[in-house]
Amino acid sequence: MSLTVLMNAGPWLSVPPPGYGGIENVIATLVPELRRLGVRVVLASVGSSTLPVDERVSVFADGQFAALQRPYNQVCGIAQAHLAGVVRELHSRDDIDLVHDHVEAVGLATLAAMGPAGPPTLHTLHWDLAKHPALYGGLDGGDRVRVNGVSASQLARAPLALREHSVGHVHLSTPLAVDADRRPRPEKGEHLLILGRINPGKGQDVGARLAHRVGLPLVLAGPVGPYHRPADLVAAGDEARQNPDVRFFLDEVAPHVDGDLVRWVGTVAGQERDDLLASARASLFPLRWEEPGGTAVVESLALGTPVVATARGCLPELIEHGRTGLLTADEEELGDLLLAAELLDPDECRRVAAQRFTPAVMAERYVELYERVRQLASVP
Ligand code: UDP
Repeated sequence: MSLTVLMNAGPWLSVPPPGYGGIENVIATLVPELRRLGVRVVLASVGSSTLPVDERVSVFADGQFAALQRPYNQVCGIAQAHLAGVVRELHSRDDIDLVHDHVEAVGLATLAAMGPAGPPTLHTLHWDLAKHPALYGGLDGGDRVRVNGVSASQLARAPLALREHSVGHVHLSTPLAVDADRRPRPEKGEHLLILGRINPGKGQDVGARLAHRVGLPLVLAGPVGPYHRPADLVAAGDEARQNPDVRFFLDEVAPHVDGDLVRWVGTVAGQERDDLLASARASLFPLRWEEPGGTAVVESLALGTPVVATARGCLPELIEHGRTGLLTADEEELGDLLLAAELLDPDECRRVAAQRFTPAVMAERYVELYERVRQLASVP
């Protein structure tokens, strides 16, 4: 296939990301599969990105997220001007067929502003959009700028202006899904796991309360605001309370964290994260927001761990109730479902992940959308 895509990862983190980094992880998962399908990828990112690509462009040497040397708007302004220059040059030489953008404040803003002179563009929506309509107010790229969601439910909740530009959705994926059905069956422990940022939307307070009610051990893994280890949060003292997620943790979750039945272990990564997830009896998502994409959900399935969750956002699309997980609209009923989760078959979870959520499946779907965006752009 002769298709060249400029993939805009933005100025915040390198690809793959050094730790947490949702968008950068998606790009790191997608790009190798696209290249396997014959797509040429030019990566617009920061200089420290190590992802193998065909060509790379950058304006910042390192990710601006951790450094925070400049205010947000200034970083965006510099990144926009750089991207506009790169796109104009590559497009005028016919060196790119399409821009795949992931960063609305940089890529979408730049491409939409280019008007009919710009290349066909696909922008992937990564947010819970109902909460951020203002971000997309400037979408006026006509037939050239299209968007895709990471779930059907995310798109359904999106502002009309976005839905009118939509070409569909592509579920998130995980490299853990490759050969998931051929790996040995995981040894299961007793514990439940909530893997994710500690945040009211993710509902760790509900999970902790339920764990005490049903008497099952619960591990909470994930950062609290900028704090990745319990010791860092303690060391920060009262100042940490300025962060809303810290206040949520200290006021709503910590009273249930007894270090015995319910534990907070901080951010887990690599093999430690995978082992914790694979050995869990179930992973729990007591959501209070409309989860847009749910990477941790597909990771759980890939490692053979059934999901117990409130039926919100993308969960009903990703989880087949009674097969790979148990869903309910009623927060209190989650407790009963946690006790029933051991009836679900870990192998079935891994089989579904290996069919539906591999990077190859995601890349094939994106190639279809790239073709569609190009066709729509060429219609007079
Ligand atoms: N994650 C991790 N360690 C943690 C907590 C989360 O590696 O301690 C990862 C998790 O495995 C997933 C990502 O962070 O890959 C979270 O993505 P998701 O889409 O589930 O949630 P988001 O934070 O983007 O809302």
